[in-house]
Amino acid sequence: MELKEIGALRRSSCVLGLGFATQRLPVVRCGRKNAHGPARKQLHKQWDRQRRGDSKQVSRQWNQQVRDVTTLPDVKRFDSLSTEDRAVGQVTSAQANFMTVVVERAGALDDGLREEGFRAGIKLLCVVRALLKKIRRRVMVGDSVLVSGIDWTDKRGMIEDVLQRRSETSDPPVANVDLLLVLFSLDRPRLDPVILNRFLVEAESTGIPLAVVLNKADLVTQEMKDSWEKRLTEWGYKPYICSVETGMGLHDMAPLLEDKTSVVFGPSGVGKSSLINFLRGRSCLPPDDIQALDEVDDEVIRVNEVSYRTGSGRHTTRHVSLLHLPFRGAMLADTPGFSYPNLSMVTSNSLASLFPEVRARLEKSEFSCGFADCQHISEPDCVVGGDWERYPYYVSLWNEVHKREEHEKAVFGTKQENDMRFKVRESGVKQAEPMLELKKHRRTSRRQVRQMVDSDVREQRDEQRELDELENADAAV
Ligand code: GDP
Repeated sequence: MELKEIGALRRSSCVLGLGFATQRLPVVRCGRKNAHGPARKQLHKQWDRQRRGDSKQVSRQWNQQVRDVTTLPDVKRFDSLSTEDRAVGQVTSAQANFMTVVVERAGALDDGLREEGFRAGIKLLCVVRALLKKIRRRVMVGDSVLVSGIDWTDKRGMIEDVLQRRSETSDPPVANVDLLLVLFSLDRPRLDPVILNRFLVEAESTGIPLAVVLNKADLVTQEMKDSWEKRLTEWGYKPYICSVETGMGLHDMAPLLEDKTSVVFGPSGVGKSSLINFLRGRSCLPPDDIQALDEVDDEVIRVNEVSYRTGSGRHTTRHVSLLHLPFRGAMLADTPGFSYPNLSMVTSNSLASLFPEVRARLEKSEFSCGFADCQHISEPDCVVGGDWERYPYYVSLWNEVHKREEHEKAVFGTKQENDMRFKVRESGVKQAEPMLELKKHRRTSRRQVRQMVDSDVREQRDEQRELDELENADAAV
């Protein structure tokens, strides 16, 4: 959300020597809403301190406060503004034009009386306000929203505003995700470090905390479990080893999921759907953690249907819902994600920071690399070096991402071109005109190019795997 500080009047009035105008407080704007009252005064104080150049910390505090006040004004002032027909809630499912919102805080009654948690948990069927669509503000499952015009009898309302997101994932599309469960199986299919690294890098690129879960522990020896645990610990992860089949290790995951919205990621066949269904069931729960699931039983049935579908189709449009898990405050997306990570958010410059062991080396080192833009690939005076286990995977991913960047640069240039160009006409008037005739010179989009490169890479990898398998078969004969 763009912030605009309207300080121009203040500055210009200083130039003109208009003393009264220097008393004006800066107005902090978010869309059409201004911060005012005590919040504005506090911001003004911060702004003044910042102007005097106090420290970076002040600037950080300022930014934080601006964000708090400007992006969550409705929640902060909700109690004073709230009326009988307004509520704040979380979107738990979306289908076509309708969204289900579970109420977290409801507006005050006319007589001002309201109990704590009044109407919390009520499910409302909502439509999205047309203005939000016009300004292209997308409402996603997981979003905190302000609902207005609520009819409490019919349980219907309209989503009026979306509050600031902490995070979001695109596959599946979920907002405010707190945890990514990167799920792999120890066997059937065998744990492949190349694919595991790809998923880890993709998950890291979202900036959301992640946990690695290794399933199908019932199919492998203790030595193999220990060896993978040691290996992943060296990479900077603490794996959860479990078996959905036997229930082993799943109790340990309860504290991990509490008070969080989680999404499961992993390749096909590793047990994602089985894990989601298992977590939704009661069998894995210690008795104290069991909560009433009756109201969401309908969703359990749908999970089975969805998981059946997602197992087969990769590119189908997927409907996603948030399911309540029977742990305190735990929510889980019913649809697994990342069938094949395309690393679209990863750049060659950011790749190294997506490896926890590289981050640790850079943090520990007293010095920085010799080159400011060191890519940590055999450059002199690099403090990361190449003596870490995942280095070859890092180099291979770096080459892939770099190749994609070069390709994009060749097709699109370093800067994205503008659709308009400006011409000075004979009259001396500068006029804008479109660069291309619509639909006549349509170019391949960046996304299409990226998809083509992805499918090339995938094909090459599959071919290589087939060749390897043939060689292995020959060798065995
Ligand atoms: P998805 O494609 O990742 O959603 O995987 P599924 O949940 O569809 O599971 C794939 C297969 O693995 C199914 O046949 C499951 O029964 C099986 N499976 C899942 N978890 C386990 C496990 O812990 N142990 C064993 N032996 N099989 C499992």
